[in-house]
Amino acid sequence: MWRVPDHPANEAERLAVLEALAIMDTPRDERFDRIAWLAQNVYGADVAFVSFIDGASQWMKACSGPGLSSTIARDRSVCQHIIASGEPLMSPDLQTDARFAGHPSVPHLPFRFYAGVPLLLTPDLAVGSVCVLRREPARPRAPFDFAPLQALAAIALDALELWRRNENLAQESRLDALTGLTNRRGFDEALLRLAGRCLRTSEPLALLLIDVDHFKAINDQLGHPAGDEVLRRLGATLAGTRVRVEDVIARYGGEEFALLLPGSNAEAAGQLAVGIRQTIASSGAVRPDGRAVTVSIGVAVLEGGEGDAPSLIAAADNALYRAKRQGRDCVVEAPTGTGRSVAATR
Ligand code: GH3
Ligand code: MG
Ligand code: MG
Repeated sequence: MWRVPDHPANEAERLAVLEALAIMDTPRDERFDRIAWLAQNVYGADVAFVSFIDGASQWMKACSGPGLSSTIARDRSVCQHIIASGEPLMSPDLQTDARFAGHPSVPHLPFRFYAGVPLLLTPDLAVGSVCVLRREPARPRAPFDFAPLQALAAIALDALELWRRNENLAQESRLDALTGLTNRRGFDEALLRLAGRCLRTSEPLALLLIDVDHFKAINDQLGHPAGDEVLRRLGATLAGTRVRVEDVIARYGGEEFALLLPGSNAEAAGQLAVGIRQTIASSGAVRPDGRAVTVSIGVAVLEGGEGDAPSLIAAADNALYRAKRQGRDCVVEAPTGTGRSVAATR
């Protein structure tokens, strides 16, 4: 009788490694597409895929062939067994396989033959799988050769390593020279990835857009270099508010900053925004002459797996505009989807 397998003993480490890789919810990549295509053709499979599996779901980095969704709840997936055991798995017929008897969905899939191997970063750390599926079951006792699938998994691991190194090199191009924060390019990439994750996991994603009030006057009074210093200090203040490692703190534009907070709901994001506004307004250490600097903040949240990146930006931008209209030095929340307008919070 089927049951959800226990997580591997090193599950926390496994999830941390996956999080640090930040491969999930990234755009399509030909290197992984080719591996899925090869697996499909080598095995005459109807579908082949390369997947990564985090705490919530199995996500297809590449999939060749029709009929499989791009994400599957982890506790429903077949590949979770590969993650749990770190071993290859083959089922000649999922519908009659006693190991999957009673599974809520597997016996009803349009696929009957399954074979998969783990993507092992180390001998006991599986981050994903390479698998093939066929609509027809295999003949009873038909031999199955895992070797090509193992070789493709090794190539997928090489592609992952190459991808990771390229990401590290590209890090610099995502940094803002003045503040050291993520720049607009890095922000845009992170937003797409995190909005995708929000849709996949139904976790909320909050965005704070922060614009300095009357910054032109600061430049005019103190000069442009002192204005730069104000931006640097504001950047450092915001960097100090990072709640989780996956939060993104970016210089969104000239004197606009953005905070992307995966997992934060409207209430948490609103509270954080109010705290940031207060911290900045009451700090005497942002302007070189010790006078107060204030910011206006627009807050928006993607929740319930609804909405997308552009609608999140538009909602936060609209809330920020309202904060400016309401006199600046305040927070306005505009939860996406409801269009709810909340009074400015000082
Ligand atoms: P508001 O309260 O409406 O936001 O008023 P504001 O004066 O801040 O208006 P706005 O946002 O339009 O002005 C942005 C100014 O920021 C204009 C530009 O000269 C200045 N700025 C943009 N980037 C930089 C920068 O890198 N360094 C400095 N010193 N100033 C910058
Ligand atoms: Mg501005
Ligand atoms: Mg401004």
